[in-house]
Amino acid sequence: MVGKARIRVRITPTVERVSRVVHGLGLHTVCEESLCPNIADCWGRGTATFMIMGDVCTRGCRFCAVKRGTPKPLDPAEPERIAKAVELLGLRYVTITSVTRDDLPDGGASHYARTVRLIKERVPHVRVEVLTPDFQGDAGLVKLVASSGVDVYAHNIETVERLTPHVRDPRAGYKQSLRVLEAVKEYDPCIITKSSILLGLGEEEHEVIEAMRDLRSVGVDILVLSQYLRPTPRQLPVARLYKLSDFRRLEEKARSLGFSYVLAHPLARTSYKAEEAYEEAKRKVNCK
Ligand code: SF4
Repeated sequence: MVGKARIRVRITPTVERVSRVVHGLGLHTVCEESLCPNIADCWGRGTATFMIMGDVCTRGCRFCAVKRGTPKPLDPAEPERIAKAVELLGLRYVTITSVTRDDLPDGGASHYARTVRLIKERVPHVRVEVLTPDFQGDAGLVKLVASSGVDVYAHNIETVERLTPHVRDPRAGYKQSLRVLEAVKEYDPCIITKSSILLGLGEEEHEVIEAMRDLRSVGVDILVLSQYLRPTPRQLPVARLYKLSDFRRLEEKARSLGFSYVLAHPLARTSYKAEEAYEEAKRKVNCK
């Protein structure tokens, strides 16, 4: 049925071990909470995605099943525990992401920056990617996070410009999100940037190509295209299920527009194959 997908999660000994450490430290991974089908693959390769700043979002995007409400105060010890987990698990590549925290004066930017710094202090060789909210388009806050030692800065535009007001929370904005990605490159052109578009929300293909052009115009290196799957009946219905051949066609187009790495697959997630994408993009961007 359109919009309903059954996803199998494979539980391996590595998945059990990582899960024990993560829960023992009172942490949350997106990998487990979203029942990501790629979990065994990612954790087996020493990569994981941690969610910081709680599980309640101040926004209400219409494609997203994250709880909406008033979040709890920040846990100041969380960055240290994340760094400890990265060390204990011997991870090679870590993604840090969060809900949007419009309730915090800095949107949680300093919490992100502290988390990245502590990880890099404990495990200097680990690669760290952040997938941040838009910080209401405040370039200073984006740069605060970018300056903490991140290797990859991701921020998702999620959909095409026309659908943004219908799909995302009114406080989000298509141009605001482009500005976030632009601010990272202004701070340091050698930081790899990345963004994702969900397909199947009612967009036309020419609008997807326009969004790709807009992302390239602010220097985005890595593009992820995936199929929108309705999480529960409360979210928007699926307007179209793309075929693999559609993904291949759009992937080719994206490559021709100059993205260093394109991941286009129905089940692609922003953090899937993140290390491979980083290595490829870094080689092409040609920075030390
Ligand atoms: S801001 Fe992010 S976490 Fe919050 S509702 Fe929108 S997509 Fe979901």
